[in-house]
Amino acid sequence: MIKHALNVTREGDFAQWYQTVITEADMAEESGVRGCMVIRPWGYGIWERIQRLLDDRIKATGHENCYFPLFIPLSYFEKEAEHVDGFAKEMAVVTHHRLIHKDGKMIPDPEAKLEEPLVVRPTSETVIGAAFSRWVQSWRDLPVLINQWANVVRWEMRTRMFLRTAEFLWQEGHTAHASVAEAREETMKMLEVYRSFAEECVAMPVVAGEKPENERFPGAVSTYSIEAMMQDGKALQAGTSHFLGTTFSSAQDIKFQNSEGQQELAQTTSWGMSTRMIGGLIMTHGDDDGLRVPPRIAPWQVAIVPMLRDNDEDAALIDYCKTIQQALAKQYAFGEPVRALLDLRAIKAVTKRWGWIKKGCPIVVEVGGRDMAGGNVSVTVRTDLYKEDGKLNSAIVAQDAFLADAVGTLENVQKALFDQAKARADANIVRDVTDFAGLESYFEKAGKFPGWVEVEWAKPSGADLDKVVERLKALKLTFRNVPNDAAPATGICIFTGAPAVERILVARAY
Ligand code: AMP
Repeated sequence: MIKHALNVTREGDFAQWYQTVITEADMAEESGVRGCMVIRPWGYGIWERIQRLLDDRIKATGHENCYFPLFIPLSYFEKEAEHVDGFAKEMAVVTHHRLIHKDGKMIPDPEAKLEEPLVVRPTSETVIGAAFSRWVQSWRDLPVLINQWANVVRWEMRTRMFLRTAEFLWQEGHTAHASVAEAREETMKMLEVYRSFAEECVAMPVVAGEKPENERFPGAVSTYSIEAMMQDGKALQAGTSHFLGTTFSSAQDIKFQNSEGQQELAQTTSWGMSTRMIGGLIMTHGDDDGLRVPPRIAPWQVAIVPMLRDNDEDAALIDYCKTIQQALAKQYAFGEPVRALLDLRAIKAVTKRWGWIKKGCPIVVEVGGRDMAGGNVSVTVRTDLYKEDGKLNSAIVAQDAFLADAVGTLENVQKALFDQAKARADANIVRDVTDFAGLESYFEKAGKFPGWVEVEWAKPSGADLDKVVERLKALKLTFRNVPNDAAPATGICIFTGAPAVERILVARAY
């Protein structure tokens, strides 16, 4: 029997397991404000890796970073009814700019009421649209391709660390184009950037596709998403890309003179990925010993732990470890120098070892006096933690052999994590449900961790769609997306009986 590092298993209580990983891996903690979290160095380090790799891809596709204010005048939102209605329920609003003492308390000064309330940005289409209207005069000014890294606030009532927080960190891309075709191409291009980033960097297999009408971003003409399957079978929307048509250009007056000299409204897009990705990472790759971080986004890929004894040998041991650290830093994995940390904290080596395992550092190297004397190291690979007899799978290998294999091992860990997640997702998408009763019985029989069901539907809209959504809601189910690579529909809609037009994914979701 293996004795795992966490005191709760995925099978036993998935929600509790998720919280435990966050705590035991030192990723984040509650703050004084409900729904707002403190992101600790290991969690933030992963976010910085996500930022760096995603930012490279955003720039490689021609976008530039800039920064817009946190506060947006309420009137900017009021210009677009659907947009303001969509976000109204979750807006934090600043109304005063000064406090005064009253009856032993501090209160907002009634004399210092803002002329116009300021919304703490939940998303920046409106304020960026206002800037676009100043920047764009002629077709020569298009396209405008920008991105910002920022925090946003959406006052969510049901929050969960990383997955759904009241304040979260993200990037939001905003672009303006001269034609529908070009803006639609941009929307799909960024969806593909998210898909490839999620799969190649986070080792998270996803399904890219279009959201149905009821799941569209407020104000969007079309919304696309990448959806990832968590280990409990639920879906997580991990990134979205919106074609906004002229919704925001008409509200914010983004007009340009076309090459024939006529005035036209620009076509805009927006797309975002957030710290939710870290929640997705945990629920995709974590196991009963904690997190497992894919090497490409691990803040440290190798943790080197010398077994210090508080005696004269320690200095030599530290030197030996430093040589290993420096040799690793000269090697390249995934096009970057290997990131190896020498852990010299004044705590027991065994505590450090399990700390790194729970954090999901891909490789843990331990070095004791005897290892050093033999020119060896003891290596534990996070994706291959236990031997068949249940003992920890730490191998004593020659230092040279370890150094020769390190990059290959990191590549193998990255691939193993993707392959495991991909095999799980592929095995749990069901495609042979042909009527609503079949859908019900699948989710009744599937047990605790059901997968996803891809069904044929007639794509009803408006009130007809609302009825279908209500029926799904009664089963705690939601539409995810219409996969870009789904087979064509050939039968009838499982909801309406009308001829089906496409295939759509149905799942429980975060
Ligand atoms: P949206 O602007 O609604 O399309 O969201 C853009 C991205 O942010 C999507 O990838 C969402 O999954 C993510 N997101 C939305 N709301 C939250 C939240 N409360 N906490 C964390 N991430 C979120």
